[in-house]
Amino acid sequence: MPTTPVLVFNCGSSSVKYQVIDVDSEAVWATGLVERVGEPQGGLTHRTGERTETVEAPIPDHATALELVVQAFRDWGPDLGQVVAVGHRAVHGGERFRAPTIIDQSVIDGLTELIGLAPLHNPPNIIGIQAARRALPQVPHVAVFDTAFFATLPPEAHTYAIDRQLALAHGIRKYGFHGTSHAYVSGKVAQVLGRDLGDFDQIVCHLGNGASISAVQGGVAVETSMGLTPLPGLVMGTRSGDIDPGVFAYLARVAGLDSGQVDELLNKSSGMAGLTGGLSDFRDIRARIDQGDPDAQLAFDVYIHRLVAYIGSYLALLGGVDALSFTAGVGENDSFVRQAVCDRLAPLGFVLDPQANAVRSGQPRVISASQSPVTILVVPTNEELALARDTVAAIGIRS
Ligand code: ADP
Repeated sequence: MPTTPVLVFNCGSSSVKYQVIDVDSEAVWATGLVERVGEPQGGLTHRTGERTETVEAPIPDHATALELVVQAFRDWGPDLGQVVAVGHRAVHGGERFRAPTIIDQSVIDGLTELIGLAPLHNPPNIIGIQAARRALPQVPHVAVFDTAFFATLPPEAHTYAIDRQLALAHGIRKYGFHGTSHAYVSGKVAQVLGRDLGDFDQIVCHLGNGASISAVQGGVAVETSMGLTPLPGLVMGTRSGDIDPGVFAYLARVAGLDSGQVDELLNKSSGMAGLTGGLSDFRDIRARIDQGDPDAQLAFDVYIHRLVAYIGSYLALLGGVDALSFTAGVGENDSFVRQAVCDRLAPLGFVLDPQANAVRSGQPRVISASQSPVTILVVPTNEELALARDTVAAIGIRS
């Protein structure tokens, strides 16, 4: 049986996640996580099959994190000599990177130029890429961009109605994020339905801690809810999603907040956390709703209201859809969210089967009633596998 193992990295601001995946069998050979990068005491967890190994150590920066990862593979396997390529999740590709790209110095320079667009995400991505290239120089490294799937948005969808020259000068437009997940899930929907991806239209709801929704026409993304940054759109765990942009200036005037403070407020202490006094996890919010907490109930209602409005708007843009899918932590696990959304959308053809909705299988599955005009699905996302596949495709290996 041939194998095509790929090492994938997802370097966040304070963590590094990694996996070795064989794209032929989809088997995961190893997974790991380095946490609390930049703090005095960090940790690494490395899993291979049933075995879990941990290391506690100071991890001052991403370069140290990557050294620990390579050492973990040396100590506990599998042998990294087998991997055919390394894939890196890169958050912001701007207008330049519209597809998975083999990394050379010009790509690193390009990512560096884009730091202004993604000040939190691109720097750890770049450091991670450089450290990984030093540690594993013998194989190609590929950057897979969160924004790439949305490079197909038509101008009327990605253009903001602000001064055109200013927008062009600074690259201010909608880019979209979570693209790897939206691409993977929309493809999986086609597979589950046994249809050609190019033959039908669908809406994908990626509802995790961050949340976004996309309209996909014949496999091509035509609209999405995130923008220049991953802040707008749906209500999220700690991010506000859509808000009147006038709030910025108003808060500056009445509360004396500067732009950094507003940014922090809208990204870190808004969304469900802002509405509930700190709860961003839907399991905690559900428990509070069950106890009769009105703030938790309002937060849930605001979340559903926004999501329903987006689905309705994308339904209109697409002129009808064949499928609606839910993915990521909330989308895959929270049957109340799916039920509440579909209750509101039933008159538009989204009819849930309550029993199917209650099942938890970890597998892609249809949860709509047999008579539902739109097929509704739960599809577990697998960004690592999508990343590994994109990496293999970029280096020209057919798996
Ligand atoms: P991200 O990758 O954006 O950090 P995830 O997709 O892992 O987030 O989603 C995390 C969120 O999923 C949690 O904050 C929680 O709200 C939700 N979640 C996870 N498991 C469950 C569950 N069993 N029931 C309801 N919500 C869940």
